[in-house]
Amino acid sequence: MEKSNVEILYEWMDKTTEIIQKHEEEPYLDSLTTTMETLFYQDAPEAMDDILSQKVQNALKEIDFSTFKIEETRKGIQLAILKGMKDSTQQQHLMTPETVALLVGYLAKKVTTGKEKVSLFDPASGTANLLTTVISQLDQQVEAYAGEVDPTLIQLAVLNANLQQQEVEFFHQDSLRPFLLDPVDLVVADLPVGYYPDDIRANDFELKADEGHSYAHHLFIEQALNYTNAGGYLIFVIPDFLFESDQSDKLHSFMQENAHIVGVVRLPESAFKSEKNRKSILILQKAGQGTSSPKQPLLVKMPSFKNESAMGDILEQMNTWFTQYNSRELNNNE
Ligand code: SAM
Repeated sequence: MEKSNVEILYEWMDKTTEIIQKHEEEPYLDSLTTTMETLFYQDAPEAMDDILSQKVQNALKEIDFSTFKIEETRKGIQLAILKGMKDSTQQQHLMTPETVALLVGYLAKKVTTGKEKVSLFDPASGTANLLTTVISQLDQQVEAYAGEVDPTLIQLAVLNANLQQQEVEFFHQDSLRPFLLDPVDLVVADLPVGYYPDDIRANDFELKADEGHSYAHHLFIEQALNYTNAGGYLIFVIPDFLFESDQSDKLHSFMQENAHIVGVVRLPESAFKSEKNRKSILILQKAGQGTSSPKQPLLVKMPSFKNESAMGDILEQMNTWFTQYNSRELNNNE
């Protein structure tokens, strides 16, 4: 069987990364950034020693990158990152899976219907897989921003966006610190789950814990709302236990005060290794003048992504729900 372009690109990236990794004796993901840099500039990085540079130049001759479609590039990169993350990356730093990213993209499209331009921010951008997938789903002109604290992941993210010819402004920083950024129309984030170690910084948030470390995922929600326009939307990939944990009462009342819960989409069990890791998608609208809660929020339990007919039914239900929701928004604005 003939190989697909995605396979060809992945195999080339994997082979080149292994050559670099063997030479540099560093983690796969670090070598992968060098591979991606080489592919982007169509040249070996200047700082590389002669022996390795020669090998990388030879590898470059084996691939004509200009023949790959953006979608193929995105998927090829995804596979290489997945390989690099397989054994070494902590659960809360993992790349957002393709199916989940596509679903967030679908929801992003629905809540931005009718807008000519969209400003978009992912404060936990990781590899930028979620962000670039969402951008590729939106038909409008998108102005994109991303925040990420991890140096390797942000390098991967920048190169990922460059190779997909997407313009994104990256902030390499702790996203719970202030940003030099105006509020945006839409925030998307696959939230990092766990404790936030900086208690002093946490003090600036309403959602700080009364005692001990605060939950990073709670502070991220508050921070994301700080950088969203009134009436703008936020789509989060959240742990299923978000509304059941110890500090969840406080989170719930904070959300009621500052936002409207537009919907919760439960992701299928089959997409996660264990019950503990199960995730949902939470859609919020930041409260503002003229905004209101939907009569009935969108509450959906996704079937297995492999079950095409059940997926078709659910998508139809969601389309109907959004048609009603969006016409209500139009009426509100009249
Ligand atoms: N959507 C990303 C993707 O497609 O690769 C994955 C996001 S991952 C679940 C959560 C990310 O949040 C990780 O990349 C982690 O490094 C980042 N993170 C955790 N705490 C952070 C902080 N305080 N500031 C900025 N980024 C942070």
